[in-house]
Amino acid sequence: MAGIRIADVKSIQEAARIIRDGGLVSFPTETVYGLGADAGNPLAVARIFEAKARPRIDPLIVHVADADSARRYGNIPEIAQPLIEKFWPGPLTLVVEKTALVPPIVTAGLETVAIRMPSHPAALALIRTAGCGIAAPSANPFGYVSPTTAQHVAEQLGDKADMILDGGSCEVGVESTILSLADSPPRILRAGGVPIEELSETLGSIRVSLEIPERPQVPGQLRRHYATRTRLEILDLEAENIREGERTGLLALTPPEDPGKYAAVEVLSRSGSLREAAANLFSALRRLDARSLDRIIARPVPERDLGIAIMDRLRRCSA
Ligand code: AMP
Ligand code: MG
Repeated sequence: MAGIRIADVKSIQEAARIIRDGGLVSFPTETVYGLGADAGNPLAVARIFEAKARPRIDPLIVHVADADSARRYGNIPEIAQPLIEKFWPGPLTLVVEKTALVPPIVTAGLETVAIRMPSHPAALALIRTAGCGIAAPSANPFGYVSPTTAQHVAEQLGDKADMILDGGSCEVGVESTILSLADSPPRILRAGGVPIEELSETLGSIRVSLEIPERPQVPGQLRRHYATRTRLEILDLEAENIREGERTGLLALTPPEDPGKYAAVEVLSRSGSLREAAANLFSALRRLDARSLDRIIARPVPERDLGIAIMDRLRRCSA
């Protein structure tokens, strides 16, 4: 059982050694906690898929500590420059043509690779000390709600990671926005921590594709994902139909008018801030999921800014 270690100089050095030796480290990022391995070591990366029971067709993100290292793993086109300047380090993942340095298991056999430079200081220190890119998905069993604290990781993957670095709760709280620069014009593959509005401002003519395709092109677009074990439905107040004796939990952006109707209530942001709501989303879902409810009702949030990523996660959770 891997212990949780506060991310400090000493634990980060030990974690870096584990990565170099082919082990698995769960580490904090500003989006969610990752489960990482040396991106250049296919056997180590294979352990990530085993630990998460993740299908081998679902590619990982390579985490780097600067733009120059990104160029070792991907052919970064010119159009990426303004994005890198504005959004790195931060919750923007770029999909580009891969280099020979990336083993096929990282990209699930695709000729493209997803690369991101996280902003969490512990993540950056770990990558720099390890001296290699770190391939990582979120540190949760495949399909479940992503972890935003070290405790979340320990509860579910405690025996699978060789170390869990604790860097506090994740500031952004939802996964990175994934933008494919391998498509022309660039295409958004996943809504996330960088609002689409901000990307559009920087890029001009991006085509936004967030519909969930019948047959997903990439596994991150799976219809059911980020899912609680408890059934979740997205309903506004008018459509609400709580049955006699039913234990219903409510997930809402702001406090409900009649909290007494519900067996449990999670408010994502008292002030209605979508950023604060995103940061609280996955913890709130986990708390509701632990309450043995018959059903979770999630109120829709406005679909702008971080609200787009929140609604994307809720829809996949409810699918
Ligand atoms: P996670 O952040 O845990 O969802 O894992 C990384 C996600 O990044 C995957 O599920 C995919 O959606 C996405 N991804 C990684 N590599 C690629 C790629 N080459 N092309 C498209 N999407 C990718
Ligand atoms: Mg994930």
